[in-house]
Amino acid sequence: MSGYNKTIYKLGNESIDFSIYEEAKKYAIDYVKNIDSRNVYPTDKAIDNLTIFFEDMPESGAETFEILRMLNDYGSPATVAQTGGRYFGLVNGGAIPAALAAKWIADVWDQNAVLNVTSPIASALEDVCEKWIVNLLKLPQGTAVGFVGGSSAATLCGITAARNYLLKKKGYDVAKKGIFNAPPIRVVLSEEAHSTVFKALSILGLGSERVEMVKSDSQGRIDHSQIPALDDNTLLILQAGNVNTGAFDNFDLLCKEANAKGAWVHVDGAFGLWARVSDEFGHLTKSLSLADSWSVDAHKTLNVPYDCGIILCRNRTALTDALHMEGSYIIYSEKRDGMLYTMEMSRRARSVELWATLKSLGKNGVKALVENLCEKARYFADRLKDNGFEVLNDVCFNQVNVYVGDDTATQNILSAIQHSGVCWCGGASRFGKPFIRISVCSYKTTYEDIDMSVKAFVNAKNIICRIIV
Ligand SMILES: *Cc1c(COP(=O)(O)O)cnc(C)c1O
Repeated sequence: MSGYNKTIYKLGNESIDFSIYEEAKKYAIDYVKNIDSRNVYPTDKAIDNLTIFFEDMPESGAETFEILRMLNDYGSPATVAQTGGRYFGLVNGGAIPAALAAKWIADVWDQNAVLNVTSPIASALEDVCEKWIVNLLKLPQGTAVGFVGGSSAATLCGITAARNYLLKKKGYDVAKKGIFNAPPIRVVLSEEAHSTVFKALSILGLGSERVEMVKSDSQGRIDHSQIPALDDNTLLILQAGNVNTGAFDNFDLLCKEANAKGAWVHVDGAFGLWARVSDEFGHLTKSLSLADSWSVDAHKTLNVPYDCGIILCRNRTALTDALHMEGSYIIYSEKRDGMLYTMEMSRRARSVELWATLKSLGKNGVKALVENLCEKARYFADRLKDNGFEVLNDVCFNQVNVYVGDDTATQNILSAIQHSGVCWCGGASRFGKPFIRISVCSYKTTYEDIDMSVKAFVNAKNIICRIIV
């Protein structure tokens, strides 16, 4: 045969050296084992060393061992140790062992979860996870579930379903006819809705400013006394877990009101929806099942590795109609075809690690996980108060907002904590007042981790206050 150069690439069965996988495994296990002895945030030196990656793209390929060595020697020190016990930034969950191990297997399988025909196992596990999660979160039987990258995508899917459904009721097919001649629909939400909600509204042509914005109360709940009259032309967006304070909107009042008027309710429950698993939080999520769609992350409170978000929609066809597409080569089956429930087509099989997490924890384990995070958030808040810090929010879930002295001192203390290497928290502000923002979200966090972190807070305070004096 002429015209085929078979020697250009070192690929093909004979040339796979399986010891590269052993090498990767060695580095990976070393990382997992020593996570708690790392600086929680990389040192300045580790970050400076990343310049090694900024080379011109090589003309010829490098050895795999060399690639792995670069990742281990220069990449790993510049990671944020967020799978350890003392990372309290954003609302980042850890990765429970069964989930991480299952994800390795899923990585090797490298399935495309687009259709049943492209991966029967991914399809089957999505099916199982759908049933388990609807049941676990006590949502209406038959609720459709899509597996997406995160709550941003989940919210986009949920609001798309809502928009299309509300307009369809008015006899307008927005999917085909577009947004420009559509009859207007109303969007009612809190001024403290998450920025991903505003992003979804802007992407969908609903406008991030063309909304009826409702004030929130001191805890960050939508002020229900200020809600405008709802009707069957309205999308009401509520929140289970304010991203800063962790507060929950009054679903009991608002979902009932919305149902009576025929409005669609979407709930952003990125981390807070998991409160549903525990009776302890029953009062916070009462009547939440009366909503129409919910977004939630498995990579936050549930401690599934990234990226694992979930959209749930009571009206199955409203979701699948909104996300449906066709192609001559797309073979839908009688079984579950994952792409019907998401924006994406090709996707990795997220259901593998999600299923492994639920199977490994069981209902009791999920409940214990959620209750533990909240218990530890309260412990963290109490120890800080004992040491002269002010806690601004009512710690109803896993978030703690901390203030000390004045705005400048708070910001300086936060910066000192971030540089301590002991723990890491972010900052935020509400109504112009900055604070240190703690999110207890990893199954790995122990009471000792919190004691160590409180010590870092106290040290930072002592240093900053001494400088000021
Ligand atoms: C994290 C978060 C989001 C965004 O979720 P991603 O998974 O990062 O896309 C949306 N809403 C709330 C309340 C969140 O905490």
